[in-house]
Amino acid sequence: MRLSVNRALIGFVVVVMLVGLVPAGILLDRRLVNALEDRARADLSSAVLVLQDRFDNQAGARMMHAREIAGSPAVTEALRQGDSLAALVAARAVVAAFPEEQAVVLSPEGRTWLGPLIPAALVDATRDGGMPVEVVVDLRTLATVALAPVKHAGQWVGAAGIWVPFADGEAARLSALTRADVLLTAPDRSLVAYTGRAEPAMGLVGMLAELPLVDGVQDLSWAGARYFLAGATVPGGARITFVRPAEDAMALVPALRGAGVVALGLGLLVALLVGARAAAGLTRPVEALTVAAEQVAGGNLRAPIPRTRVTELDRMAVSFEAMRDTLAARIEELDRANQELEARQERLTTLQAEFIQRDRLSSTTRLLVQLAHEIRNPVAGVRNALELLRRRVQGDTEAMEFADLAIDELLRMHELAEHMLDIHRPRGNQNSTDATSVVREVAAVVRLGTAGTGVMIEADAEAAVPAAIGPDALKQVLLNLVQNAREAVGPKGRIVLRTRTTDQGALVEVEDDGPGIEPKDLPRLFDAFFTTKEELRGVGLGLYIAEGVVRGRGGRLMASNRAEGGARFTIEIPSVEAR
Ligand code: ADP
Repeated sequence: MRLSVNRALIGFVVVVMLVGLVPAGILLDRRLVNALEDRARADLSSAVLVLQDRFDNQAGARMMHAREIAGSPAVTEALRQGDSLAALVAARAVVAAFPEEQAVVLSPEGRTWLGPLIPAALVDATRDGGMPVEVVVDLRTLATVALAPVKHAGQWVGAAGIWVPFADGEAARLSALTRADVLLTAPDRSLVAYTGRAEPAMGLVGMLAELPLVDGVQDLSWAGARYFLAGATVPGGARITFVRPAEDAMALVPALRGAGVVALGLGLLVALLVGARAAAGLTRPVEALTVAAEQVAGGNLRAPIPRTRVTELDRMAVSFEAMRDTLAARIEELDRANQELEARQERLTTLQAEFIQRDRLSSTTRLLVQLAHEIRNPVAGVRNALELLRRRVQGDTEAMEFADLAIDELLRMHELAEHMLDIHRPRGNQNSTDATSVVREVAAVVRLGTAGTGVMIEADAEAAVPAAIGPDALKQVLLNLVQNAREAVGPKGRIVLRTRTTDQGALVEVEDDGPGIEPKDLPRLFDAFFTTKEELRGVGLGLYIAEGVVRGRGGRLMASNRAEGGARFTIEIPSVEAR
């Protein structure tokens, strides 16, 4: 499977983010929920302590107020005399100093003269000299009562004290202090006050009635909702329960979860952007390198290799550049070697062709010279015989005509044999000459012969070109070549004779602007009897003999076609010194 760096990196980022952040988010969420629950429980635990503290503090003050009323001489006197009205007036006079409180007066028989109905147990406690502070129920109203014994001469004559209502106001205050809902139930478990939403109160009260009171915070599920509870009973049996709906305690959780998801999303987005950038930063140089590599593969060895700030990729680019340069150098070397090889191959092919031709020519030459020798003598014999016969048939015109014809043909044969022997026959005794003067002489002779025909003969000759060949031989070769050129060019032709001195010796060229030589004829041009001049009665020995003459002087005769049209024959003769 193929995977782009871009996708891989982005995928990697997403996986890392999800694998790393999602469990971390879940863990954080758990911890947050636990922490909030713990906090709610701790709040509720401290609410119980707050309640006890508050009750204890208030109890001390109320006990003192009760003692003050009970210790009032007017109250004592009124009780001793059994005067309830006087007792009431006296007690109220004292209690007026304590704004929120009202007076309680109990008759010497223990009946309530003033204030809520007091349980007998409390009355008995005062009889024993106690000063109880308790919450009592009177007509479904709760009241905190503080009582003190009224004594005269050491004798219990009744009891007096104060009371304050213990209901909605107290519940609200406690709720504000503890940040929990407060549920107040009477000792008989009936609901007295609830500061939370009214609706679950009745159900909760029912539950609470059955719930044993334990230390610490309890969990309670009711009507699909969770509640944390902590309760305490106050002296007198009333129960105060602090209720915290779990929903309230966890109110922060959805908001925090939302924030967490948003943060995760943002983190993922940022990571994706960073990942995409990083991927682009990586892939861009890789792509540029690929393009450069493709260009190099396509043969452009000068294609620029892009550099990058990514260290590893840059090292790759540097290596690639070095590789490209080495490749370019190798290819250049190879090209050069190839060119050399081609040039050598060409030289070799030419040489080989030349060798083959020379070999063929020299064996043909030997054969022809032998043949010519062999032919010359019998031809002379046959000719003598024919001359004799001719003389004998004088008078017979027809026989004489036949004899003349036969003698003519024998003469042609003799001429042919002489031509063949020409190749090896020494011409004059000179073996060197100035090619330029020979060229000029030939040009002059040919000009005389072509006067009035329209054919132009030019001699483009250097001052003096010494050549290791006798003047007669060179003249014979040149006349041969010029004759061929004249036959090739037609009436308005142009023939140029040229001489030069080169490193190899003398160079003589014969150029014409005729039709040139058929490429297929080039390899056979110097063969004996090769001719294309059937209608001109060409014999095909001219070039053959010329080549033999030049070769006999250690030179070369070459034929080629000119780029501008026409044929060029080149004679290379060694310089005089070289021989
Ligand atoms: P011949 O002239 O009797 O044909 P040569 O040996 O002199 O014999 O020439 C051989 C052949 O070479 C000619 O028949 C001709 O086809 C060709 N040739 C020689 N010189 C030229 C030239 N200047 N231009 C074109 N063809 C030539």
